[in-house]
Amino acid sequence: MEQIAVNLERVREQIAQAARKSGRLPNEIELVAVSKAHPAEKVQAAVEAGQTLFGESRVQEARAKIPLLSSRLRWHFIGHLQKNKIRHALPLFELFHGIDSLALAQDLQRIAEEDGMRPRVLLEVNVAGEASKHGFSPERLREELDALLSLGRLTLEGLMTIPPLTPEADASRRYFVILRELRDRMETDFKVKLPHLSMGMSGDFAVAIEEGATLVRVGTAIFGAR
Ligand SMILES: *Cc1c(COP(=O)(O)O)cnc(C)c1O
Repeated sequence: MEQIAVNLERVREQIAQAARKSGRLPNEIELVAVSKAHPAEKVQAAVEAGQTLFGESRVQEARAKIPLLSSRLRWHFIGHLQKNKIRHALPLFELFHGIDSLALAQDLQRIAEEDGMRPRVLLEVNVAGEASKHGFSPERLREELDALLSLGRLTLEGLMTIPPLTPEADASRRYFVILRELRDRMETDFKVKLPHLSMGMSGDFAVAIEEGATLVRVGTAIFGAR
């Protein structure tokens, strides 16, 4: 458990370093500590080391874990949200990173309306066109952004991506650039603000910060292997 405090300190220092290197302020970047597949005791160790924001990718697991911990913690949903889990997820999470289709956004809109909720969301973009991954292609995002923006219960706050897995952190850079440039074009063309870029995991969060990440999702580097 002490290792978690050490790891968190190291990750925070690497975030600060990557921010300075790219002329940004460390507090422009928020660390989402990804606690999926780790028990509440390990989350608690991170809380004691000062972490208050956590990420989970399965609703069922989150429903069991979140009530065991302080109600002052903040939780982000980072996975693929299944339609039949929306109602349970809405009250648990302050931000949904992986909204990956118009149909899902419409379901979220409908259930949020029924339940009086106003979820904040990020749209997931499949930047490398991988068949195995969820997310909007850049073209589809452009086609559907007006429809997405018309869903009045949702606050669209930015984009998220999971680039192809590679052992080389720098190989992710081009995908992070694609996401940032796509966001910039959408902001100009649709006259909207999409301030958040959720990109970067344990292997490549420093590179993601250099390319503009505002939210990094880090699990293994904090909690160890799953
Ligand atoms: C598991 C997960 C992470 C964290 O990955 P690590 O490599 O353990 O840091 C980040 N984002 C998403 C969407 C995940 O599912």
